[in-house]
Amino acid sequence: MASRNGYVTKTYPWNDAYLAALLESDRKKIPARLQAAESAVNERLHALSADHGGIPHERQALEDATNGLKVLRQELSEWQSRQSSASAQRRDSTSSQPASEPDQSNEGADNCKSCKSENQTAFPSKINIHFPGKRNLTKPTVLVFPTLLVCLDCGFTEFVTPETELRVLKEETAQSRTA
Ligand SMILES: [Zn+2]
Repeated sequence: MASRNGYVTKTYPWNDAYLAALLESDRKKIPARLQAAESAVNERLHALSADHGGIPHERQALEDATNGLKVLRQELSEWQSRQSSASAQRRDSTSSQPASEPDQSNEGADNCKSCKSENQTAFPSKINIHFPGKRNLTKPTVLVFPTLLVCLDCGFTEFVTPETELRVLKEETAQSRTA
């Protein structure tokens, strides 16, 4: 997948399917994309193990993709269960509270929060989160695979820490406060 800046990271055929799954913004389409990406990655892993070859670089990329897809699948199922409980709640509350529809205010949400540019692009990433403070140097870090939304004009970047990892950050932070 070539970026419109013309700089191309090393790509593999399976990588397109992986990125398509990762970058799909329509939740309803994610399950199909995820399926396609998983089989593309697995197929490639099989091919590589058959000829005992492959470039180390690609093996690493495949490993990252496998992890990324795992996280995506987990987020998807969490989102789906949230969806079903949310829609149940909505049905219950329509008679009593017909007022607020918070989802309506999404206008302009695609613009950079810093410079309002529309020139934002999503990038898959691997981020190693360290706990702050000297005494936390030995604490294990938390690895996340978020999709980064990078403003290509000012560099402002945002991402959402997945729920599972967020819980770890929360618990560890609470622990080091009371320690
Ligand atoms: Zn910006």
